[in-house]
Amino acid sequence: MSELLGVDAARARLLDSATPVAETETVAADAALGRVLAAPLISQVTVPPLDNSAMDGYAVRLADCADGAWLPVAQRIPAGALGAPLAAGTAARIFTGAPVPDGVDTVVMQEDCETDGDRVRVVRAPAAGANIRRAGEDIRAGQGVLDAGTRLGPAQLGVAASVGATTLTVYRRPRVAVFFTGDEIVLPGQPLAPGRIYNSNRASLLALLGQLGVEVIDLGQVPDRLDATRATLEAASRQADVVITSGGVSVGEEDHVRAALESLGRVDLWKVNMKPGKPLVRGRVGDADFLGLPGNPVSAFVVFCLFARPFLLKRMGATPAPMLAYPVVAGFDRRKPGQRREFLRARIEDGRVVLFPNQSSGVLTSLAWADGLVDLDADVTVAAGDPVRFLSLPELLA
Ligand code: AMP
Ligand code: MG
Repeated sequence: MSELLGVDAARARLLDSATPVAETETVAADAALGRVLAAPLISQVTVPPLDNSAMDGYAVRLADCADGAWLPVAQRIPAGALGAPLAAGTAARIFTGAPVPDGVDTVVMQEDCETDGDRVRVVRAPAAGANIRRAGEDIRAGQGVLDAGTRLGPAQLGVAASVGATTLTVYRRPRVAVFFTGDEIVLPGQPLAPGRIYNSNRASLLALLGQLGVEVIDLGQVPDRLDATRATLEAASRQADVVITSGGVSVGEEDHVRAALESLGRVDLWKVNMKPGKPLVRGRVGDADFLGLPGNPVSAFVVFCLFARPFLLKRMGATPAPMLAYPVVAGFDRRKPGQRREFLRARIEDGRVVLFPNQSSGVLTSLAWADGLVDLDADVTVAAGDPVRFLSLPELLA
């Protein structure tokens, strides 16, 4: 149980053990942001439906425009209107998005034309076929436009609307129960007695889960006692698909999460070779998955981003993206190598990545300050100018 696992191996093992929810439901497309498609979306329509103009200008047969010939403007076609077939030797005034009538082979943008009353001539001829967006160049009827497992963001919802979808078949949202251990933690709004600290993990975790779009069941704070921890864990497992806790997972005698889990279900303690956040508790209680986050606020946040989040995405039916690290230039020195892979709170400044001065896992302001995490292997030193890996925080949370 106590082998030291690499971050990538731990992540892969955790994801392997995540089963997507089976149930699906049909929701209004307008209410589907963040949901995961359970069936491919097949278009019934062609987009765009007709060849249409990409410019405000004049629709012509290019051969008619040789030597700057003047052409009568025989029709006017705004977007939404259908023109008539273009008679030989004439031009049509046309606007962006308007269907291009039969007979037209090219649209000339208005800046390249000269007009005189009802006549137009082409001053700078484009290539034949220019400025026409072809019917079906985006989507053809019968084509699959979004795969099952797609998480619906703004672009995907736009695509769904572009094919006229009003409802979408998505996976049910997993129910995630959370509770927070620690006799020292109090909720903001309560007086802060000596020895107490405010519960910051709750605020961060509820926001992280809210952004992910799971259904949250907040079971509040649980005292550091085995019976209370057990009772809450059991209640959580009856209501939720996944139970997530913060704190209480170390080996101290005030840490009861593991013992409670052992008595009710199955538990694995993974020691992950990372800093912050070495202990990760994975288990099952009844039909629910269990994930135990560390108590230290930075550790809890980072472990959530690197492990819990992709796990939950897979439970939601989506395919979590791999951790995408960008190569950046170090704007810092690190002469003493670490013994574990580190995720350091960092910012890009003037094209170089700099570190927050205090990297303690209790210093939550480091995360609020950071744009991302420098992902540094164990046993390496860094000199300013060296390339290092950078994980963008917004992307870890996207
Ligand atoms: P634990 O994992 O329970 O040993 O907690 C590790 C550290 O994290 C201790 O300093 C706790 O006071 C702190 N901690 C635990 N839970 C929270 C929380 N919900 N909010 C802020 N700090 C916490
Ligand atoms: Mg504790």
